[in-house]
Amino acid sequence: MKKGPLLYRGKAKSVYLTDNPDEVSVEFRDDITAFDGEKKAVLEGKGMYNAAVSAFLFEYLEIHGVKTQFIHMLDHRTMLVRRLSMIPLEVIVRNIAAGSIVKKYPFREGDVLNPTVIILDYKDDTRHDPMVNDDIIFALGLVTREELLTIRKTALKVNDLLRTYLAGLSITLVDFKLEFGRWKDKILVGDEISMDSMRLWDGKTKESLDKDVYRFEKGDVMSTYAAVAERITPGALHRFEAEKTVFSGER
Ligand code: 5GP
Repeated sequence: MKKGPLLYRGKAKSVYLTDNPDEVSVEFRDDITAFDGEKKAVLEGKGMYNAAVSAFLFEYLEIHGVKTQFIHMLDHRTMLVRRLSMIPLEVIVRNIAAGSIVKKYPFREGDVLNPTVIILDYKDDTRHDPMVNDDIIFALGLVTREELLTIRKTALKVNDLLRTYLAGLSITLVDFKLEFGRWKDKILVGDEISMDSMRLWDGKTKESLDKDVYRFEKGDVMSTYAAVAERITPGALHRFEAEKTVFSGER
């Protein structure tokens, strides 16, 4: 597999073409940003931790019947994925009130949300990712009614799977963001599932184990990311460290 030209450079990941037109490689860089890119830093090792967690959770979802774009790791910070046509929606699933939902509505941080709340944001930093409803989504022509149903159903299934897995590690899945893309006639989970896109609290101490540590300067970001990556991906990090250039993910 040859690394081809850069296709897209996001705030924390770079996407490269490969010699297969149906596949791209996604490099998790060490950049960390918050507040629509207004706050930024480079933290050594961050890309590896997020790549390890994303790869592990994508595989976990696949094993449990959720289709994702993940194929395998190419090295400790790069995954080979199916080339999706991305849908510009951020699908946010919330189990517990925290972050923007507490600012906008009369919830208190820590309130259990019943039902689980799905929020859809239009992905556009220049507009600060505005929340959209179904009518706006259809009027913009982003997805069909059937596709939106699939997206909501898949998001809830992912929530059930991740929440249960993480609860077993004494980690509370407060909320998370998913992105979806089209692959042939299917809708697959894309992007990443990492400490940058999930809000995680320690089950006992309620300490933040995610990007909130960076956003709100709650402690040492890299030691938090390292510890939570080790908890979520038991053993995988050792393999990543040992095989920093080539991760033997070929299947
Ligand atoms: P909030 O709306 O409270 O800021 O975020 C809710 C959840 O979605 C958090 O877990 C947060 O990390 C994730 N999220 C929301 N917007 C974005 C985004 O633009 N990028 C990333 N990586 N995650 C986001």
